[in-house]
Amino acid sequence: MCRESDKDCNCYYDSNHPDSMRQRRQFIKSFVICGVGFSVIHPVFAVSFRQKKKTSKGHDEIRVSPKERCPVCGMFVSPYPKWLTRIQFKDGSHHSFDGMKCLFRFYFSPATFGPDKLRSDIDRILVRDYYTLKFIDHDKAVYVVGSNVYGPMGHELIPFTEKKTARTFMKDHFGKRLFRFDEVTAELLDLLDKSKRQVNLKGIP
Ligand SMILES: [Zn+2]
Repeated sequence: MCRESDKDCNCYYDSNHPDSMRQRRQFIKSFVICGVGFSVIHPVFAVSFRQKKKTSKGHDEIRVSPKERCPVCGMFVSPYPKWLTRIQFKDGSHHSFDGMKCLFRFYFSPATFGPDKLRSDIDRILVRDYYTLKFIDHDKAVYVVGSNVYGPMGHELIPFTEKKTARTFMKDHFGKRLFRFDEVTAELLDLLDKSKRQVNLKGIP
């Protein structure tokens, strides 16, 4: 029978050989360490677990807790980082939403979703540029409506910082119209909720 240190023996490649078993243990250990490292740095997890702060380029960055739910539809927000939007209140609290439609529903009627917040309590509204994924103030964005890109709640208003980029997106994804934040109405939200594949904006101002 060979000794553990005897590399020249013929049973070195035997899976029961002590050296071979040690290598396997080492491999499993490295695999577990790499897995933990990946879950910490992966951007989707990063969005979920860190707190809000400015990025090195000065853009707002938003993190949500995995337990945060949209106050309008009740869905968890963290699984949809691409559609994340937020209303920040003057008292430092916030609501996160899983899309612009839910954010607008809240904005139009905060009292419907809880007695403690009024529209006058709002400090900032941050929306996420669909292509760059940067968060910008709601009134600096344009919103594409009627495209074939769906959010977690179906047809959406999709924010873009640049009008030119929004128009390119419209061409690529059959968007119907661009809206400014203050042009959006509850009637438009109802229409988007009711629409199946196509959105018919006839009659919407
Ligand atoms: Zn929602």
